[in-house]
Amino acid sequence: MINVEAIRKQFLVYKKYPNLRFFDSAASSLKHKNVVKAMTDYLSYNGTNVHRGVYSLAQEATDLYEKGRTDVARFIGSNLEEVIFTKSTTHALNMLARGLKDLLQKGDEIVLSGLEHHSNLLPWLELATEQGLIVKWITPEDGKITIPNFKKVLSSRTRLVITHHISNVMGYITPIEKMIELSHKVGAYVVLDAAQSIAYKKLNVANLDVDFVAFSGHKMYGPNGVGVLYGKYKLLELIKPAEFGGEMVDKVILPKSTFKAPPYKFESGTPPIAEVIGLSEAIKFIEKVGQKKLYQHALYLRNYCLDKLKNEPFIEIYNQAENSTLLTFNIEGVHPHDTASFLDQYEVAVRAGHHCNQLTMKYLNQDATNRASFSCYNSIEDCNILIDAILETRNFFKNI
Ligand code: PMP
Repeated sequence: MINVEAIRKQFLVYKKYPNLRFFDSAASSLKHKNVVKAMTDYLSYNGTNVHRGVYSLAQEATDLYEKGRTDVARFIGSNLEEVIFTKSTTHALNMLARGLKDLLQKGDEIVLSGLEHHSNLLPWLELATEQGLIVKWITPEDGKITIPNFKKVLSSRTRLVITHHISNVMGYITPIEKMIELSHKVGAYVVLDAAQSIAYKKLNVANLDVDFVAFSGHKMYGPNGVGVLYGKYKLLELIKPAEFGGEMVDKVILPKSTFKAPPYKFESGTPPIAEVIGLSEAIKFIEKVGQKKLYQHALYLRNYCLDKLKNEPFIEIYNQAENSTLLTFNIEGVHPHDTASFLDQYEVAVRAGHHCNQLTMKYLNQDATNRASFSCYNSIEDCNILIDAILETRNFFKNI
């Protein structure tokens, strides 16, 4: 089991707000103190650019930044040159969709699930419109992507399969191993949105044989402003950069310049240096605790809350299957924003809204929901306060 008390001491926000009950890590997790320290150290005692200066201070910045790449590569089981630093998952997926444009032609099919976050949906829909691609949708079953439904839309014309690893609304895990195997059989590439899974599920891209993966630092106890795009090297060589500028170019020649080899051709301009340095520390924290333990702790707390709330007739819980670290719910007759505001009085932080996932809202037949997400700094005491506060919310609104 996780020692929550010891973990909380590593998240400085609890020094300022000791009674905070934070259930919104699926939006952005809290930041580990070593992340903050490493970033502050770089900003305070260095602050120079990378890959440019030859003086020692700039060399030190480059070493710290490139160490971030080594840490990410170890963490996901890739080669160094396959790790591209981006601003976020959203940035990574947009960059990828732009880059793949020339490899896809009118009439090619792409497969998308009906449960994607807008970041893993809109770049592909835009691309489909521009290139005349045919979008095939996997119909969810009980809020999950299933292999039989996936097989129904996979064909010899499929060029790309795009999916999340863990859904940001349902919290369920996609059967990606089988999907990758089946996709490769028909010659399709697989794009994996690992934004929600990266802190919880060990990813070994080489073993998985996945083609592209995207994730963000801020969902793994690290900073916002940094994300990762992983791609198989031979595919990154084929893909065009989507952004042009400093450092990514090899030779500026009119009318057609040449670009550096991956990953550098995708990292134009000054990268998020402090953020990459912070990401290294976030990875070290996750490696130290272990993704398995992090996942099991979150699952345990979530199932504890589910058990206490599922029989309340006025609460509708949309993801009751066991393997989710999220509790997605509505209180009868109360708008989710009102619920979230009411819970805030108890220093309980939950998300309200469509969670940038209108497709899943449509599937659930809701405009918006509340979502509680569970993490390593949450305790049973937090959960009891959350449960009581939810019951209080209902009592309060029932009477007005
Ligand atoms: N995909 C999923 C599944 C997410 O949960 C999120 C963040 N809510 C994103 C993509 C986008 O991440 P970011 O905002 O860091 O780009």
